Amino acid sequence: MIYLDNNATTRVAPEVFEAMRPYLTEEFGNPSSAHALGREARRAVETARQQVADLLGASDVSEIVFTSCGSESDNWAIGGFLEQNPTRRHIITTRVEHEAVRNLCEHLAEIGCEVTWLEVDRNGEFDLDDLRKALRPETGIVSVMLANNETGVLFPIEEVGRIVREHSDAVFHVDGVQAVGKVPIDLKSWPVDLFSISGHKFCAPKGVGALYIRRGVRLPPFIIGGGQEQRRRSGTEAVPNIVALGRAARLARDFDGHARVRRLRDRLEDEILAQFPSATLNGVADRNKRLPNTCNVSFKGLDGSEIRARLDAAGICVSTGSACNAESREVSGVLRAMNVPYEIASGAVRFSIGRYNTEEEIDETLTSLAKIITK
Ligand code: PLP
Repeated sequence: MIYLDNNATTRVAPEVFEAMRPYLTEEFGNPSSAHALGREARRAVETARQQVADLLGASDVSEIVFTSCGSESDNWAIGGFLEQNPTRRHIITTRVEHEAVRNLCEHLAEIGCEVTWLEVDRNGEFDLDDLRKALRPETGIVSVMLANNETGVLFPIEEVGRIVREHSDAVFHVDGVQAVGKVPIDLKSWPVDLFSISGHKFCAPKGVGALYIRRGVRLPPFIIGGGQEQRRRSGTEAVPNIVALGRAARLARDFDGHARVRRLRDRLEDEILAQFPSATLNGVADRNKRLPNTCNVSFKGLDGSEIRARLDAAGICVSTGSACNAESREVSGVLRAMNVPYEIASGAVRFSIGRYNTEEEIDETLTSLAKIITK
């Protein structure tokens, strides 16, 4: 099987699995217990916190709070801020956020918040002047993703953060779920207050994520209970998952194969665009403005889900959009927001490369694709 759907989820790295295994078996203690097993679990959790802080370039380990997934981190950041600041119910976000932000903001609009949606252009980018114009005294939170999960388009987060700081007192949340492990992150110097991550996007298991909360930023607890995670998110820590997240963070920090992943993506993209006259790229053409692993192309006049199904039958896993809406046959909301015409958007296929892909797999994918498209 050839797996080219690494933006949907990744395989757990063997090193990560080995690191978490003892915490499922012998080292099963509760980090709150005052005995040797408990102390070992506590030590492991705090080591993981340091590893995640290192990957994100956080100033202090206390800025990292473990959660269960990226969606939880997003919901906590935005919902929590609004709960605590009922008079600042104006939110600014983009039309192309992941559903965890987009659907939450739609819900918040229904219950009385005001949401300004930043529109994107055909490249998937938004105008920073629109952001400047949208900011006002009652703006409570601005939420903008670092990398788009469908197109890989990167938003200029440092610039966005500077504008937010210059023109308002709003808190700045960044959904970094799709970017972690793929591009460098330096929260010490970036003007970002809250930053969401998810383990299963970078070789940790599903069911663990984190929210970075800059020191000094106040957020009410997400779960109230026994006071774990600095009283911010109660519930006994998922020690094996947290250990895995930490090990995956270290693996990502030390990964030296970025150039190889980029080369595989570039080759796949170049060949598709050269070989198939019906193929067009979705997202900005400048590759420095996109994730190095993502290629989203449309085959005009063809059905993307049909191509996906035929690749699937040939043992190749790709996606037509985000994994969350893969079963619905609707055109991707991201491509719709980019004003991609229906006959192009409906032919979209997303290829996302990961650390375990090889040149041979790219060759095989191109061969299968040629058979499918000509048919
Ligand atoms: N944000 C982005 C940009 C994503 O791509 C995803 C998952 O696809 C999420 C949030 C949600 O993460 P999780 O699946 O961990 O809830």
